[in-house]
Amino acid sequence: MNCKEIRKNYIISRYIDGTLPPTEVDDFTIHCLHCGTCYQALTKEEKLIDFFRSGHGHEHPKLAPVKNRFSVSLCHLAWAGAVLAVIGVVVLFILTNKHINQTRIFAFYEIEVPHYEASLIRSASCTTTFCIQFKTAMEHYLKAEYKAAADSLQHAIEFSPQNYQALFFLGVSRLLSGQTEEAVTELKKITVLPANAYTEETYWYLGKAYLKMGKTSAAKEQFTLVLKMGKNYSQRAKEILTALK
Ligand SMILES: [Zn+2]
Repeated sequence: MNCKEIRKNYIISRYIDGTLPPTEVDDFTIHCLHCGTCYQALTKEEKLIDFFRSGHGHEHPKLAPVKNRFSVSLCHLAWAGAVLAVIGVVVLFILTNKHINQTRIFAFYEIEVPHYEASLIRSASCTTTFCIQFKTAMEHYLKAEYKAAADSLQHAIEFSPQNYQALFFLGVSRLLSGQTEEAVTELKKITVLPANAYTEETYWYLGKAYLKMGKTSAAKEQFTLVLKMGKNYSQRAKEILTALK
């Protein structure tokens, strides 16, 4: 049975009013399971008949009741299933994408450890209190002992309050040991100093600290500053800003 035969032999009407022989009922049911055009024609005709049956069409009082309800339902069920499958695929796609976004945002919260070049530690000319404290601190830092590093750095900057390198690693060590608010306090001190080798990284880690604190708009401000500098962290700042939109 094909679409042409169905139209030519009024199969749909006969199917609905139950005058179609059982073998043709089966043929039509199978056809309408995979033919959208005939399924739509069936739905349309069914609605029309329901409209007349519901009392709107008094001029057709003897219209036969809709028969083959079970078969008709089978068609509806099959097509509803198809629609649900499509919705399912779309929802799954959205959820998977959302999952990707969440994974990326989660990665953005991670604090990567800034590299420290240990040349100073090896230097023999380290004699000032500041230098000795800084050296001790950075030895802890390189062993990932961030709390101890931060405490030594805190002591070191008492002797050189505007040393941006010490302030930077102090802020980062506070951040890495989970003392986020203290990290912000120290890193902010660098932002009021003249632009230096740590300016970009300071904005970057301040942004990370604000993200950790849930202060998204403050974080965005920092990442925007990083982006404007157009240097090492610029591309990553752009990615975070896009993800935070
Ligand atoms: Zn068809």
